[in-house]
Amino acid sequence: MSVTGNPLQPTVFELSHPGRGGGKIPHPPKDALERLPAGSRRAAPPALPEVNEPELVRHYVNLSQLNHAVDTGFYPLGSCTMKWNPKINEWAARLPGFADLHPLAPDEVAQGTLRLLWELEQALREISGMEAVTLQPAAGAQGELTGILMVRAYHRARGDTGRTEVLVPDSAHGTNPATATMAGFRTVSIPPAADGGVDVAAFRAALGPRTAAIMITNPSTLGLFETRIGELLEAVHAAGALAYMDGANLNAVLGRVKPGEVGFDVMHFNVHKTFSTPHGGGGPGAGPVGVGERLLPYLPSPRVLRAADGSFRLERPGERPTSIGRLRSFVGNVGVLVRAYAYIADHGAEGLREVSDDAVLAANYLKARLAGLLDIPYERACMHEFVASAASLKRATGVRTLDIAKRLIDFGFHPPTVYFPLTVEEAMLIEPTETESLETLDAFVAAMERIVAEAHDDPAMVTSAPHTAPVRRLDEASAARQPNLRWRPMTGRETPCPD
Ligand SMILES: *Cc1c(COP(=O)(O)O)cnc(C)c1O
Repeated sequence: MSVTGNPLQPTVFELSHPGRGGGKIPHPPKDALERLPAGSRRAAPPALPEVNEPELVRHYVNLSQLNHAVDTGFYPLGSCTMKWNPKINEWAARLPGFADLHPLAPDEVAQGTLRLLWELEQALREISGMEAVTLQPAAGAQGELTGILMVRAYHRARGDTGRTEVLVPDSAHGTNPATATMAGFRTVSIPPAADGGVDVAAFRAALGPRTAAIMITNPSTLGLFETRIGELLEAVHAAGALAYMDGANLNAVLGRVKPGEVGFDVMHFNVHKTFSTPHGGGGPGAGPVGVGERLLPYLPSPRVLRAADGSFRLERPGERPTSIGRLRSFVGNVGVLVRAYAYIADHGAEGLREVSDDAVLAANYLKARLAGLLDIPYERACMHEFVASAASLKRATGVRTLDIAKRLIDFGFHPPTVYFPLTVEEAMLIEPTETESLETLDAFVAAMERIVAEAHDDPAMVTSAPHTAPVRRLDEASAARQPNLRWRPMTGRETPCPD
């Protein structure tokens, strides 16, 4: 079981004993050092710990057991779609033809990878209803930046230089306003309507000749489908602005809604969420971007092109001068894209639609089961995730959302996303995903029932949790602001220089 019961591990430096390790590494030829310029040689050996092989393997395997992962337990982290990552994806990504291909290999020897990328673009086009797709961005956030830079290029190309604002709903992921700012726009925040949806009147009031784009997440970060989206996009286009869809929640609508047909001009996919590539702890991910006709000329370069004879090549530098250029080295995070391709090919159109149906069913089931325990601010049917709140529980018992999250760790569950969206007091954003069994969902409900009972009968049990994890409550502000990530005492002089 993930984090429960394991003692803290010593660092590999603390395990080190001089002379114990390193014997199996082939030594370089005797004159190797002489061939290096004197200025590039070390004065002292690098500070490498010396441990034998079993100690080393146990050290890292034990460390890995401190992580909660989808491989070890339920992970209902809202907005992140921590679904099961099928192991067949890993097999595909490790095929030597993909894994060992040099990123600068000439097109002639990279035909298989180029074809896979091209076919993945076609699959994402079909899924989204957009005109074309770039696979280059390294994450959703970079996909957003790519999309908004294309919007900027579009307005500039038309000589429409007065558009300085991007409208973003209050409930949006923090990356949306960050993107607008990085692309040089001013973010205008729009509060949600009472039902949690887009407030069309507020958007209309803010729309004008200064609006470059609106950014909408659909389904929203409240887990709700935007029913007024058609009306809103009509107003946006009438105002001469473009519509960006944050597609992070596409997992809810695969095979049901195509953003391109709805009228969006540009969107990003989080393939690591929707199409099951392992993520968390910072990546790697991929954030392909789909565009409609208006933004086609501005797609990043190089694109993967298919010639009439069926062969593939990368666009040459400068071949398409309207492009916004390159956002990432080479053609993107190819290993992640191979996994996404494997997932899509494995499921097929029918399978992807079932993915969404099951994700929505699981979320609505959990929402209904938790309704008597926690506040449910938005009652209408949710999509693949939903917002619950501990506001009433806190008033009655003093136990907060953070306490519930920490106590869930003792039951072997990863906590849901907490205190997001910011618009809901004591929020929990819960996303079970389609890959969890009924038994797992019920076990989660049983843990929540017990925690809420404890909140009334023995609140200290909850407010001092976790009790079974190797560390208790951390000072999260210091951990973020003054991270202590490095072991310093070793100097390198402990390690004898190879002769
Ligand atoms: C995850 C997420 C993002 C950012 O995507 P990354 O791949 O983490 O950069 C943006 N918007 C929403 C709604 C998300 O859930």
